[in-house]
Amino acid sequence: MKSLPYFCRGEVVRGFGRGSKELGIPTANFRDSVVDNLPADISTGIYYGWACVGNGDVYKMVMSIGWNPYYKNTKKSMETHVIHKFKEDFYGEVLSVVLVGYIRPERSFNSLEALIAAINSDIEEAKMKLELPEHHKLKDDNFFTSTANSSSVLPATPSPSTSQTIMNGH
Ligand code: ADP
Ligand code: MG
Repeated sequence: MKSLPYFCRGEVVRGFGRGSKELGIPTANFRDSVVDNLPADISTGIYYGWACVGNGDVYKMVMSIGWNPYYKNTKKSMETHVIHKFKEDFYGEVLSVVLVGYIRPERSFNSLEALIAAINSDIEEAKMKLELPEHHKLKDDNFFTSTANSSSVLPATPSPSTSQTIMNGH
């Protein structure tokens, strides 16, 4: 996918309430404007990358880009599970992410156990892949420390060190 790595940030909104948190895997949803800006070549499926809430630390993440049942599957959603235990929810805060790589396409599962096992294996794969030096350096990208990060300025601008543009395809 030519758009990777892909940088974006936006407000965390309430999701579809499918009980991800009850499964121990909360997923923070981006507002529609962030989803609408996704380049066309970023297909649905599971991605890994880096994420930070507000001005906080940068953690590993897995993201599901999928069809949102709330909009009768006509609209995409982007749901980020940050691989970190937070003390509190962060609805309304600005989430900054960089999508680094693709793990697998979307699929359905026959049981909740199978779904949870798949997500846990995605998390393990993300943890491992992100240790590669070329992926690890994105963690230190200026994108995560830029002042825009604290002022919820949209859209996000990637640092000059990253030639990728976030709006390509639009
Ligand atoms: P919703 O349907 O509203 O998305 P979830 O059960 O998926 O509900 O919970 C997501 C919310 O949990 C996020 O919006 C965020 O405020 C909070 N949260 C706490 N820890 C995490 C985490 N590690 N990753 C993602 N979201 C988290
Ligand atoms: Mg969610």
